[in-house]
Amino acid sequence: MIGFDTTVFPKLNFRSPDEFWGLIRDLKVFFDKSCKRLPDFAEKTSRFMAAFDKFDPFIQSYTAEVCPCCATVCCAMRHGIPEFADVVGFLAMGLDVPSYDLSLDINGRCQFMGQTGCMLPRTQRPYRCTWYFCDPLLKQIEIGPTLHYRAFIKDVEELASARSGLMAAFYEVWLQKNEDLS
Ligand code: SF4
Ligand code: SF4
Repeated sequence: MIGFDTTVFPKLNFRSPDEFWGLIRDLKVFFDKSCKRLPDFAEKTSRFMAAFDKFDPFIQSYTAEVCPCCATVCCAMRHGIPEFADVVGFLAMGLDVPSYDLSLDINGRCQFMGQTGCMLPRTQRPYRCTWYFCDPLLKQIEIGPTLHYRAFIKDVEELASARSGLMAAFYEVWLQKNEDLS
């Protein structure tokens, strides 16, 4: 399964810090109560983490080559802010939710951009940061060894599928909770 539709989840409103952090707080409580002990969930989380581990060195080697020459760096503040599904992923993997400074200009440079690139581990970045491939990056991968390209396609599909599996498992319990409340 590829491409779980994450728009079914609530929207994290970065324009209202109270709402943003309130929803994350509620999600953490729900998560601890309802998800942590589900065996299926742990298995799906492991698969997601393994997919990140596999994919990260590959994509890192290409971004290290291409990004330093980039004139239009894609890392804007608005891209570094997570969606609800990203936070589900962080909590599943036992990661802290980064301390976003929501008072910064949303169109400015991402607060996690350091001298040598992103300061967050890939697992703690919004998924779009890994999923986005600009044309120069794609071109570089395409002109690389064929084996690299095939591995890239396989790994990217596995990452998407693993994330979808995790989100679908979460959605099941999340939906149940909302149905119980209604
Ligand atoms: S991913 Fe592409 S757009 Fe973003 S910084 Fe690297 S080269 Fe530039
Ligand atoms: S990759 Fe890192 S620096 Fe770039 S937008 Fe994502 S979180 Fe920000």
